[in-house]
Amino acid sequence: MSALLVDEWQDKAACRGPQAAVFFPPPRTERRDEKAEREARAKAICGQCSVIDDCLDHALDVGEAHGIWGGRNEIERRNMLLLRTEAS
Ligand code: SF4
Repeated sequence: MSALLVDEWQDKAACRGPQAAVFFPPPRTERRDEKAEREARAKAICGQCSVIDDCLDHALDVGEAHGIWGGRNEIERRNMLLLRTEAS
């Protein structure tokens, strides 16, 4: 559960602005090494973000299917949700 409302934490997001592009795949096919590099850049920004926990909670709560949220990509979030389901 997020500690802040969505609009409150999003106002504090470190990914606001032009760097937001690295958080989602480009509209063309992306090679595996390009994806890894792009995601590493995004995750480095997340690592400096003060609302990383709220962001990840939101992405898990609403099932964000694409992009980097809370320092995790879609596969990592899917695995987190599976573990959450198995634990309940
Ligand atoms: S954790 Fe990452 S994706 Fe989430 S708001 Fe912060 S910088 Fe953006």
